[in-house]
Amino acid sequence: MEKCLLDGRIIYAMDVSKGYIDETEIREKSRERQLLCFDPECGQTVVFKRGEKRSAHFAHLPDHRQCDYDDYDRDTPDTWKEVKRNIYNHFKGNINAGLSVDMDVKIFPKHFTPILLKQSNNQQIAIEFGDKKTTSKTLTTLTNAYRKRNIEVEWVTVDDVGECRHEQDFYYIKRFQLNESKTHSAIVVDKGTQQFVIYALDQDTYNYQGADVIGISDHNIFSFQFPLDNLIFENINLSAIGFGQSFKDWKTQKTVALEGFIKQDELRRQARKQREEKIKRLKQERQQEGNIQRPKRKLVHIEQEEPFCLQKISIPRTYYPVTVKLHSAWTEKDFANKLKSAAHENVSAVKMLISKVYECDDNELAIFLQLYERAKTKERTPEIRKYLAVFEHVLEQAKKIES
Ligand SMILES: [Zn+2]
Repeated sequence: MEKCLLDGRIIYAMDVSKGYIDETEIREKSRERQLLCFDPECGQTVVFKRGEKRSAHFAHLPDHRQCDYDDYDRDTPDTWKEVKRNIYNHFKGNINAGLSVDMDVKIFPKHFTPILLKQSNNQQIAIEFGDKKTTSKTLTTLTNAYRKRNIEVEWVTVDDVGECRHEQDFYYIKRFQLNESKTHSAIVVDKGTQQFVIYALDQDTYNYQGADVIGISDHNIFSFQFPLDNLIFENINLSAIGFGQSFKDWKTQKTVALEGFIKQDELRRQARKQREEKIKRLKQERQQEGNIQRPKRKLVHIEQEEPFCLQKISIPRTYYPVTVKLHSAWTEKDFANKLKSAAHENVSAVKMLISKVYECDDNELAIFLQLYERAKTKERTPEIRKYLAVFEHVLEQAKKIES
């Protein structure tokens, strides 16, 4: 137990051990059975104890009756007691005007409040300790009991301090503090290093197009490490020097990150849209190209890549329905022009002549044959020979089709 009564005065065990003279005097009073239990409902004799491992404390004699303070003390882990003493000493040593601090205060039956701070305006703040074993029943029952008496309560978790970025990852006492406290923050003290951390819940949403932005909105916990020296009371809450500004800066960074994300996403969308439009345009162009240029390419292919060979040029039978005339009546000039082109290795001219001769009437055939006879009378220059070859091939092909 942290404190006892001596002649109506409160004696703190940790104060006794500070000086040799004090410890000698209290040990004497202890032997004389003058130290009494601090619990007003107990009042039994207690004794002073301090070893080299065990810190200074008061304890009942072995044959004592049940005592609430004794029960509370026995149920409190040593790590909690250490944090409690440190916080008590911190506030006692740095007490602002109008703020007083007390330790182990009996406000409710069967329960002691580890630390109670009082402000000059009579506002009281209780500090309670807990860890992963602290049940939701304990938390709600005590919190409601304090609130009924108009006392704020701050649940300080004593455990290992670790990195945590998501509210849902915390165990219950921390979640309780994050959600139930006025500041939506939880203080954790590392039981080994006595390092303090405030975890603060960011309640703002970071949405884009109706959805939470992953990596920004889901990191809803800000953590701030600080030494006990920087622990303060601010607006009826436990806080730390520099915490408020750091939390604000962190939230600004998230907002900037969100704006950056939105900008990037809009650029991506624009790029995608441009890509899609380009693909659409290319498709249309290809379609048009296909409609216009494919036949041209075929012609070019035949005329340029296949060497001209008169003997191979013929007409598929299906091109020429016997009953329908494809060409209007040709004059001698029409035949002469086509023959000239054919002699100059124009494939389509040869084909035209074949189809014409195949379907032509007697008059046109007479014109063609007349031109043939005239050519035969000419001197056989290479050009005339080619010319005659066209006549012979056309007549042959036209006849072939006929048969
Ligand atoms: Zn007692």
